[in-house]
Amino acid sequence: MEKRYVLALDQGTTSSRAILFDRDGGIVARAQKEFEQHYPQSGWVEHDPMEILYSQMNALELVLGSLDGRVGIGEIACLGITNQRETTILWDKASGRPVYPAIVWQCRRTAELCEDLKRRGLAEKIKEKTGLILDAYFSGTKIKWILDHVPAARQLAAQERLLFGTVETWLIWNFTGGASHVTDYSNASRTMLFNVDRLCWDEELCALLEIPMSILPKPVPSGAFHGEVVAGLIGLHEIAGLPITGAIGDQPAALFGQACFRPGQAKNTYGTGCFLLMNTGTQRVKSEHNLLTGVAWGLGNEVEYAIEGSAFNAGSVIQWLRDELHLIDSAARCDELAESVPDSGGVYLVPAFTGLGAPYWDMYARGTIVGLTRGTSRAHIARAVVECIAYQVGDLLEAMSADAGICFPELRVDGGASVSNIMMQIQANLLQTAVNRPRVVETTALGAAYLAGLTAGVWSNKDELQQNRQIDRVFVPDLPREKRDRMVTDWKRAVERSLEWETPG
Ligand code: ADP
Repeated sequence: MEKRYVLALDQGTTSSRAILFDRDGGIVARAQKEFEQHYPQSGWVEHDPMEILYSQMNALELVLGSLDGRVGIGEIACLGITNQRETTILWDKASGRPVYPAIVWQCRRTAELCEDLKRRGLAEKIKEKTGLILDAYFSGTKIKWILDHVPAARQLAAQERLLFGTVETWLIWNFTGGASHVTDYSNASRTMLFNVDRLCWDEELCALLEIPMSILPKPVPSGAFHGEVVAGLIGLHEIAGLPITGAIGDQPAALFGQACFRPGQAKNTYGTGCFLLMNTGTQRVKSEHNLLTGVAWGLGNEVEYAIEGSAFNAGSVIQWLRDELHLIDSAARCDELAESVPDSGGVYLVPAFTGLGAPYWDMYARGTIVGLTRGTSRAHIARAVVECIAYQVGDLLEAMSADAGICFPELRVDGGASVSNIMMQIQANLLQTAVNRPRVVETTALGAAYLAGLTAGVWSNKDELQQNRQIDRVFVPDLPREKRDRMVTDWKRAVERSLEWETPG
């Protein structure tokens, strides 16, 4: 039987999804299971690793159950996994039981520990080796926290029974019945323990955080044979024997799913926040602008790097307009209002609700609205909201191009807010570059499917994937450059007014 389909699992922060793709990159079936978020203390975020596993298996079962004979299980070639990055799980390899809940990427419990490492002057070394800015997001300090606070963890580590994994590691270990304890390079790049040039765990950093190297998974290319699904777990008997041939973190997966295979090609995901990644090819770029660098993917013997920046607040600003200010009743209404005026009437909104990320990195910045006059209407405010999302992406791309010394040919877009035509048009105008929106916006799962399928031979090369990409719409700049330059200058003046607003301590 010809194997023409690829199964992708997308284990996200709030839900687990399973999607079956055909050879054209089209969606045949999909299912989604949400799971619980736990906030045990202010700033802490946890998931139950067993719930992550079961929700993922449940989504998988639902997809298989929905096929109704349309696709035979024997026609599925392989499985690809993409996942929320940095989230940290430690478990006992004898029993398979986690020793503590998963500490989620958003969790700030190790912020003080990170400050301490900064005071000890370690930020530069960490950046040099890992490509990351020393921060509580990444797994390293989360592992240390569990080892320091859960007595069973250190005891199991001493007996060499403790294993660490990010979510793809945890899923692969379980799906293979404990046979594979691996992490792909893209996920390893977010642990703050991985040397991104040498593609191995960094002994010095592990020692610094007192993390025994015996608990770490083996770093492997993203597209590779990661093991076979074993029967035994509920729901997996149907796909027993299926090879797992792709594993990659969610943002690089979207870069792959958008077919950004050449240096300079970039994608931005417009969700609650924005995640912008640019392919920098086989070269790792060292950022001078507080951006992050890491492995985008490893495929066979080839490793490609990406440079990454994010804006904390993007779609969330639209939600704020709806839920807090009640100026709109839906996100779509924000677009209508923004479209009803030719510009923002000189109003600029800087959404520094939680400080500003790259390229400003000011945790003490706070949101501001400037340029109000008696004639300012809610349509102007809505326009300023839509514009502020595009300005932030513009700032990130400007920094990225400077770091990488690469001119980007266009920006590829996805995510919930990329449906906004007005936002995408404004984005094209601010970048003075085309903005390209594909038909399939499930780019994260698609990226995992592509990696798995390339490895398993469903597709023979990346050119085939490039041809699969169907464009929904391309937005081309229609604003004179001088006007655009004036707007960007005023945006930067507005940003300056938001900086260092909150006083430290
Ligand atoms: P996440 O994966 O971060 O949860 P999504 O990719 O699902 O986010 O995108 C959700 C965001 O998209 C919301 O913050 C919402 O404000 C925004 N959004 C949804 N529809 C529109 C629209 N028509 N115009 C602008 N923004 C929208």
